[in-house]
Amino acid sequence: MTDQHKHGYLVGGEVHRAFIKPQHDKPWTAVQYAAVEVDDYEHVTDEDQQPGKKTLAVCEGCIILGTHADMKATADHLLANPSQLETNEVMGSAIIGDRYRWKNGKIPFRIHPALRDQYRVYDAIKHWHEMTPIRLEPHSAGSDYVEFVPGSGCASAVGRQGGRQEIIVGPGCTTGNLIHEIGHTVGLWHEQSRIDRDAWVEILWSNMDPRYSHNFEQHITDGIDLNYYDYGSIMHYPSNAFSRNGQPTIRPRRNGPEMGQRSGLSVGDIAAVRAICSRI
Ligand SMILES: [Zn+2]
Repeated sequence: MTDQHKHGYLVGGEVHRAFIKPQHDKPWTAVQYAAVEVDDYEHVTDEDQQPGKKTLAVCEGCIILGTHADMKATADHLLANPSQLETNEVMGSAIIGDRYRWKNGKIPFRIHPALRDQYRVYDAIKHWHEMTPIRLEPHSAGSDYVEFVPGSGCASAVGRQGGRQEIIVGPGCTTGNLIHEIGHTVGLWHEQSRIDRDAWVEILWSNMDPRYSHNFEQHITDGIDLNYYDYGSIMHYPSNAFSRNGQPTIRPRRNGPEMGQRSGLSVGDIAAVRAICSRI
């Protein structure tokens, strides 16, 4: 088993360049993502039915930006109309990259019946309920909800996308991985993608598997990463993420907790979530 899979990343497929809007009212941000084929459980209603396939745009190993087709269409449009890259207006599938909030911090959820070991999901939800004001509640009515579905890695979109959205749960996804993925669903990006990350960590490119170096090449800011940089965040990559040789790919520049823990939300994570909730 490779390190990539041990960490539960959803990897594979060609790498593409595109644009997202991590902040609703700010210009576009360039990103790279992998086009990853996954099982499509949206219309699968019982365990005997075989899922179809769909291709998702997955950045940084576990963030679902949308479908590859939508991301490519938006990128093609913007590259053909580059003046729009600097505009703040929202158009078409731009909504995919936006981080929308869940009303009153409540996230309706479903668990697909084909998902094994569902206790992982319930344990992760219990942790969120114990540590934060966020509440995941069984979906009954309303169009917006998240569904936990089977897959080969762990992945989630960032924030409320509108309509049905997924958290993909691979066989290797632990409760800790799912606490991390729910963090994305709530609206958190990866700690090591912060705009100020180079002041806090050094990226060791020579140890990196070149197929995955695109996961380290971008900075995404959503306007709430103004608190101190948190090595102990559950949203931080482990120090050997996407290593080709087992050696570190990320080295801290200062003293601090070990990077990449997946046991629970850190004090900094909880503060970030409270900041989000205070703006809902
Ligand atoms: Zn992630």
